[in-house]
Amino acid sequence: MPDHILVANWKMNTSSREAELLAEVARRTAVHGVESVLCPPFVWLDRIRQIVEGSRVRVGAQNLHWEAKGAYTGEISGSQLRELCEYVIVGHSERRTLFGESDAIVAKKLHTAAAYGLIPILCVGESVEAREAGKTEEVIGRQVLNAVAYFGGERLLVAYEPIWAIGSGTPATPVQAQAAAGLILRCLETLPGNTDVSVLYGGSVSPSSLAGFLEQPDIDGALVGGASLDAEQYTEMVRIAATITT
Ligand code: PEP
Repeated sequence: MPDHILVANWKMNTSSREAELLAEVARRTAVHGVESVLCPPFVWLDRIRQIVEGSRVRVGAQNLHWEAKGAYTGEISGSQLRELCEYVIVGHSERRTLFGESDAIVAKKLHTAAAYGLIPILCVGESVEAREAGKTEEVIGRQVLNAVAYFGGERLLVAYEPIWAIGSGTPATPVQAQAAAGLILRCLETLPGNTDVSVLYGGSVSPSSLAGFLEQPDIDGALVGGASLDAEQYTEMVRIAATITT
């Protein structure tokens, strides 16, 4: 297992040229001890895969459908994705809130991802209302336990992404993130002992906040949105991840 994992979620951003440039930067800056995973929009997956081929950089998708094929206009299946990438983000809060993905749908997607040999990056995290109501642990626990109900994979990445931190410019504190990471690991104790589990923090991570998260005992990496679209910030985050040893 690498020392740290850095997942870049480009969301619905980048032109083909911008995506190529970012992938070239990622290829050039890849270092031993940091697992860099680029998650571009579906349409650039194949191009990015070609650019980083033979390097340490890995590629992931941002979503998948739970069926292998069929009449699901606009959807992409795990059997298609496995030809293009190794990882897939599942249950991002934008999918849950904007596209109505329930815990039950997330569980089906997680199961499917693993069934096709993809490494899932499961996202969980509470809303500001839930945090203020003292329900953070309840929400995270429910999301994690429901998601892994039929999970049978060998490797799972779980990103703690509090909704109130995503895109806000204000990340959670390392102490808050560590508390959630510890809870996530306790919830995953029900998985078979040989399952390789890593916990990431996501939500307004930037070069100035990354180290604080990576220094936490239960946090293995970060899921980065906005800052991963900036070549300079991305490069700096890879450098930071490579220098922190836990
Ligand atoms: C995300 O949406 O997964 C994310 C972490 O975004 P940002 O870094 O921009 O908050």
